[in-house]
Amino acid sequence: MSQAPSCNPPHSSSVPIPAASQHTSPCQACGACCAFFRVSFYWAEAAELNARWVEPLTPHLSCMAGTNRKSPRCEALGGQVGQHVACSIYAQRPSPCHELQAGDEKCQRARAAHGLPPLA
Ligand code: SF4
Ligand code: SF4
Repeated sequence: MSQAPSCNPPHSSSVPIPAASQHTSPCQACGACCAFFRVSFYWAEAAELNARWVEPLTPHLSCMAGTNRKSPRCEALGGQVGQHVACSIYAQRPSPCHELQAGDEKCQRARAAHGLPPLA
């Protein structure tokens, strides 16, 4: 992948966005990495996902729809970045989304790009 992977905003299949008082993870008030990186993965992973969420990238790579843009935003991300967000396919999210961890370098870079303070 040409850029770093994405993150873990906790899910909802119908994307109800949790109120701030219900947040159990900093990701629920963030979503920055879902709207910063191109989320690409080996094409075979796409078989686990509904086609609406996937775009072809190369003969061997696919990406999350919406993330291969000048201003990326994964189409599976519901809510408002930096406020309240949820991943609509959390249980099926691709490997890059598992790999990126809250507080790691990529997380901090995405947060900074969205004007959010670094995680402690
Ligand atoms: S940028 Fe960090 S805190 Fe924000 S959603 Fe991604 S992993 Fe979570
Ligand atoms: S699939 Fe979910 S966790 Fe991964 S980038 Fe999209 S919204 Fe974020």
